[in-house]
This record gives sequence, structure tokens and C-alpha cells, in this order.
Amino acid sequence: MKIGCPKEIKPQEFRVGLTPNAAQEAVGHGHQVIVETGAGLGAGFTDEDYQAAGATIIGTAQEIFAAADMIVKVKEPQPAERKMLREGQLLFTYLHLAPDPEQTHDLLASGCTAIAYETVTDDRGGLPLLAPMSEVAGRLAPQVGAWTLQKANGGRGVLMGGVPGVGPARVLVIGGGVVGTHAARVAAGMGAEVTVLDRSLNRLRYLDDVFGSSFRTGYSSAGLLAEHLAQADMVIGAVLVPGAAAPKLVKRADFASMKPGAALVDVAIDQGGCFETSRATTHADPVYEVDGIMHYCVANMPGAVARTSTIALGNATMPFMLALADKGWKKACADDPHLLNGLNVHAGQLTYDAVGKALGIDV
Ligand code: NAD
Repeated sequence: MKIGCPKEIKPQEFRVGLTPNAAQEAVGHGHQVIVETGAGLGAGFTDEDYQAAGATIIGTAQEIFAAADMIVKVKEPQPAERKMLREGQLLFTYLHLAPDPEQTHDLLASGCTAIAYETVTDDRGGLPLLAPMSEVAGRLAPQVGAWTLQKANGGRGVLMGGVPGVGPARVLVIGGGVVGTHAARVAAGMGAEVTVLDRSLNRLRYLDDVFGSSFRTGYSSAGLLAEHLAQADMVIGAVLVPGAAAPKLVKRADFASMKPGAALVDVAIDQGGCFETSRATTHADPVYEVDGIMHYCVANMPGAVARTSTIALGNATMPFMLALADKGWKKACADDPHLLNGLNVHAGQLTYDAVGKALGIDV
């Protein structure tokens, strides 16, 4: 199969769909890999890295789209890319079609077969191609929160680990799933005093079993939340209610009892945010202040560490990409129901129930 990897063109996107290592694996499986010139530069991979892996560098996205049997990307295809997709071509990338009728329409009109990273599942009911980005955002959250806490950035001027004779920062993590667990681990590793609140007792049991005394856990009730908010130097929002907007757990009225200059990091901002005062920000201007409380609400946090994110995503997508290339999508999806769950569009037909319901299109 001919596998094509164009350069991402969505603004502020520095990741790339194939790493040189993934390209090398595909070449080792007997496939031809074509990569647009400069596609990997944002993630620190040069054209020479891809050539050394056995890939061919191509000058333009048009040539990649015209020649490839399968296109591997990161972000949903942009309007200019959608025009280049064709019948019978396989697209493997994040799509997020439910809130995006224009993209859905264009993909249906193209006749392509599109497999969305975000709906591929695993044996434990998880989303294996979303999890790496939650891991990245979770581990990044205390890092950006620590920066936000610095005085020059509007914060309280508190050091995460304290120093001998001065106590550490208090960090509250709301939601103990993938993001919250990774955030809590890193915050605790930086020396902060960390508490994780969740609504799932099973999740709290798991955290307690695995992490013991490195951080505390609590059941997420309004009363306990208010108690912890009043003491927190940093609050990390990491809740998810599947299929719904994030619940607004922290209200503006709560700020009156909080420490001035406390930092809120709303990782759940891509689902609307779990703080009432959250609005999405960008890497170029990530932080703003409301009533003396600093907010960091970047919706695509993994983009800040494009190299780590690209490699983490590539590790997760590689086995699926190879199965699709080796067997063709029909056999690969017939053999693996979890990959089949990724199928969103085929030959002008929507094939994913939740997207159909959201957009009022027959599946
Ligand atoms: P997850 O499903 O693994 O974890 C969510 C947790 O929230 C679950 O343990 C759940 O029990 C808990 N929860 C639900 N309601 C709660 C409540 N009222 N109080 C306390 N806990 C509650 O999800 P995840 O992968 O950790 O993702 C968390 C959020 O981060 C999602 O909205 C996801 O889209 C977002 N995210 C954002 C970025 C970014 O760049 N901003 C990157 C990755 C993920």
C-alpha cells in the first residue's frame, strides 16, 4: 500500500501523523511511505530522518493526496485537504465529526473511507488513541500551573515543592481519570501536597492502591470541594462526563474564599471547561485573570510539547496503521471490532451512530 503523510495545516498544529519510526515499520512491512517535505519539522523530525527510514519525500500535499491509498494525519482534514480526498481512499486521523457538519458533509461527498482516532476502542472500554493526549495534558498541567503561579505571570508566587522551612504548594485535582492521575503524579513529584477528588469510588480505590500516600483522595461532593478550594494554590480541572459538556464545578462565587493569585488549569476546556469562568485560550496568550484568580485554559495543550505528543500518538496509532496497510481496511476492521468502532464514514455513508444522532443524518 502507498501510505501518505501530509504536513498539518491547521493553525498552531506542530504534530505529524507518522514518525520516522512508524514510517520505517511500514516500509519493513513492504509498504511505500510518502511524506510531504517539512511535515515533521514542528516535531523535530527532518526530511533526512524520514529518508533514512526508507520514506520518499514529496514536494506538495496535492501530490501526496493524489498518490496515496491511505492518508495518515493528526488533525481533521481542513477544507483544502477535504477537496483532495477521493473515492476509495482511506483516511486515518482525529475527526471529531459530531460538532462539525461541514466536515462531515465534505467527507461524505468525497467518497473516502474515514477512520477516526477518537472512536477506536480497547478491551477495557477505553479510547486508546485519545489516552496518550490525556497523558500528555495531565503531565503538562502542573508544569504550566507552576509557571502560572509565578509572580511575574500574575500568580501567587508559590514554589511547588517549597524549600526547607517553607511548606509546599497545595494542589487540588478535580477528576482522577487519565488526565487527573498523570497530573497528580507530576504535581506530587514536584513536591506539592496533592489531593484528587473523583465521583467514582472504584477510581478512588484504584488511585489509593497504586499511589498509596503520594497523594490523597476524596469523594467529590460540593462541601469537600469548597473546603479544598479555600486552601488550594493550584486547581487542575480534569473531569469528563462522556458525551456531555463538563459540569461547572467551580463557580465565580467560590473565588471569594480562595487565595488571591491561585492558579486554575482547566484541562477539561475542550468539553466547555469545569470552571464557570473558563474560556478557551491559546499557547500564544494562555493565561487570564478573573477576580484575582489566574486561569490557564489552552484547548490543545499537547501542541506545546509537539515532539513528545507526536511520538506518544505514533506509538498508539502504529499497530492500527500497520493492520490497515497490511490487510486493507475491510479485513483489518473485520478482524478487530475495536478498529471497526473507528469507522465513521464509508463511500458516502455515515457509519457511526453518535455522529449521526448529533447531526441528524441517517447511519
Ligand atoms: P477520564 O474519563 O479518564 O477521566 C474523567 C474523570 O472525571 C473520571 O474518573 C470521572 O469519574 C471523573 N468525574 C466525572 N464527574 C466528576 C465530578 N463531578 N467530580 C469529580 N470527578 C468527576 O477523562 P480524561 O482522559 O482524564 O479527560 C479529562 C478531560 O480532559 C476531558 O474533557 C478531555 O477531553 C480533556 N483533555 C483536554 C486536553 C487539552 O489539551 N485541554 C487534552 C486531553 C484531554
